[in-house]
Amino acid sequence: MILYRAHLLWSDSLNELRDIEDGGLLVDEAGLIVASGSFDETVAQHPLTEVRDLRPHWILPGLIDLHVHLPQYESVAMDGLELLPWLNTHIFPAEARFADPGLAKSAAQQFFGDLLSLGTTTAVVYSTVHQEATDIAFREAESCGIRCAMGKVMMDQNAPEALSEDTETSLQQSDELIQQWHGKADGRLLYALAPRFAPMCTPALMRGVGTLSEKTGAYIQTHLAESLDEILWVAKLFPECANYTDVYRQYGMLNTRTLLGHGVHLTATERAMIRRAGSTIVHCPSSNAFLKSGVMPLRRWLEEGLLVGLGTDVAGGPTLSMWNEMAMAGTVSKLRCTLLQEPEATVKPAEAFHLATRGAASSLGLKDRIGGLDKGMEADFIVVDPRVVDPAKRNDDATDRVLSRLIYRAVPRMVKATFVRGSQCFIQES
Ligand SMILES: [Zn+2]
Repeated sequence: MILYRAHLLWSDSLNELRDIEDGGLLVDEAGLIVASGSFDETVAQHPLTEVRDLRPHWILPGLIDLHVHLPQYESVAMDGLELLPWLNTHIFPAEARFADPGLAKSAAQQFFGDLLSLGTTTAVVYSTVHQEATDIAFREAESCGIRCAMGKVMMDQNAPEALSEDTETSLQQSDELIQQWHGKADGRLLYALAPRFAPMCTPALMRGVGTLSEKTGAYIQTHLAESLDEILWVAKLFPECANYTDVYRQYGMLNTRTLLGHGVHLTATERAMIRRAGSTIVHCPSSNAFLKSGVMPLRRWLEEGLLVGLGTDVAGGPTLSMWNEMAMAGTVSKLRCTLLQEPEATVKPAEAFHLATRGAASSLGLKDRIGGLDKGMEADFIVVDPRVVDPAKRNDDATDRVLSRLIYRAVPRMVKATFVRGSQCFIQES
């Protein structure tokens, strides 16, 4: 066992932070947190344990990115287009290149390595339509130690020719990947079925996805109500459905393991449908700003009781940093507050931090295992140096001020080390 000594900070709920200034985090060989509390108490209870003194660094739970596209990483920050033309111009050609296993391997190594270096310990990932590239990505995730839920993209209509598949093959290959990877590495690797979005999926495919999810416990990830042009397209393609969300409801894709990317433009009826199903909206504010999709009213969705997490949505979002995403969630909420005169819209750093840790874990059904530093949880944590982002290099500042700087002034070198289930997956070269 190892006892880590540092300032411990984690979130209990949207409004409550847990904060132990001279803390001890005791982790056993299996990567479980055996104790977390004051250092003096913890060391008194476990006097013979090896101590690693990390002061003045802080320990936080690892960050959770609920929506990100591995094959799009090479296409980040391509400015100038909105969602549908951006997909055709930049994204589909990039995804088609993943037919090459060599490229799939090197891209996955870079992607997971960069996520870990930024403090992300869990990611919910879209691969491409390629079964082999997805298998390769899972192998890389297995060996680098990151926790992830991932799936091959599924598209059986309106997709470019190089990425089109027939319904049966898409479902069959997804099922094979589920058998191979869902729950592997003692549950560190999970499968997330990935029908891209309604315009590129037939009702038969979506029904098959719902059935597979029920049968296997795999997650479902897809996109919903991201841009206005997309919503018009869905209305044309699915006249039998009352609205965009109703497409997913009618064809069996809404359950408690469904992660719906974006949800920028949702009617009250749609929000009620999502709440009833217990599905999660994944807020991707950087991507929504970058592609001019809109500004999701995060505060309102939270007050209505919707489950919400955060996602970088690379390459719609320009960076893999969840720090950046937390900052953007705060920033766009403030823009809503001033531009749209919604005085209550502002989202605080502690709330964004909750959405990126324990809140996201809860959406994944993993709130007892990850997202916090409580006894009995798996030790997914990061070591950060708050002085890196503090011009005054303080060691004794108030926690809410420290957290605000970590989020709004984040730079990669403030993350010193990243651990998943007690294993060190990243350490910053000094
Ligand atoms: Zn996306």
